[in-house]
Amino acid sequence: MLRASRMAVLALTVAALIALAGIVATRDELRLAERPSPPPPPLPVAEDTRLLIFAPHPDDEVIAAGGLIQQAREAGGTVRVVYLTSGDSYTASVRAEQHVARPKGADYRAYGHQREDEARASLRTLGVGAWSLTFLGFPNGGLNRLMSTYWSELRSPYRSPYTRLRRPARSESFILDTEYRGEDLTQEIAEIIGDFKPTIMLVPRPEDQHADHCATWFFVADALGDVTRVHPRFQTDLINYIVHYYSWGFEDDDPFLKPPEDLDPGVSGWLIVPLSDREVDTKREALHQIKSQMRIMGWFLDGFARRDEVFSRPEPPHVRLPINHSVCDDLEEKRHRHGH
Ligand SMILES: [Zn+2]
Repeated sequence: MLRASRMAVLALTVAALIALAGIVATRDELRLAERPSPPPPPLPVAEDTRLLIFAPHPDDEVIAAGGLIQQAREAGGTVRVVYLTSGDSYTASVRAEQHVARPKGADYRAYGHQREDEARASLRTLGVGAWSLTFLGFPNGGLNRLMSTYWSELRSPYRSPYTRLRRPARSESFILDTEYRGEDLTQEIAEIIGDFKPTIMLVPRPEDQHADHCATWFFVADALGDVTRVHPRFQTDLINYIVHYYSWGFEDDDPFLKPPEDLDPGVSGWLIVPLSDREVDTKREALHQIKSQMRIMGWFLDGFARRDEVFSRPEPPHVRLPINHSVCDDLEEKRHRHGH
């Protein structure tokens, strides 16, 4: 009898404990439900991420996305950078780097190669090997002319007043006989997109006040249109960055970079990517590898080594080049009037 009642007590105790455990679990669940879940990362990267960055000049990719590049690599993703120009026409910097008062074509070309080497060193710091970089060698300071006047074979190709070249100097081109014509540049970019099949594409905003940056948007949007016409199922996350916009980026020394106040945040609002302390340090280290630009405007580059990076997502573009008058010229004029 005693044994049976002990068993009953034990059974009751076990039942009570199980019930209690149930209540505790329920409370835990409640507590979890009350706590707001952390917001999803604005630009999630993973092992299958294929990040393709279009940079008008060597340094724009690090300025805009030196942190995101590290995060993509860390996650096991693949990164590729395409430089539309080698940044060879920055006369004040050519004078300083080549030690000549009146640089000639060869000085501009040598300076362009120096900037390509600096880009390789910088990207190595971010964990991206030289084989992931493509230098298209189009004319620095001339991309906007290729969108309109120098579009097709109807006239002779554009000739850079700096390097004196009419075609890319080194053959990193995908298309044979590429010359400084807009349709050649669109075709090169379309070939790269179709081949790499990026899951995320970074490209400057059309409002960027440097004409080469603005023109890069138009060329990439035009090329993306060509790719989707041939591969209707191809999808990618098209993301914008901005580098030159009035005094944005260097008007304060806040640890966080805030989006420019008067710009449209895009279809999904500003995408603010937070960086860890280590990522900020590595980004600064990478920026400092771009030695020619550090010497002439280190203050500008350092302004982007902050605790976040700012992106936006545009409406699906409907760009068809050529266009009659390049809107990018007007933006460039505004920038010069503003004095930087
Ligand atoms: Zn640039």
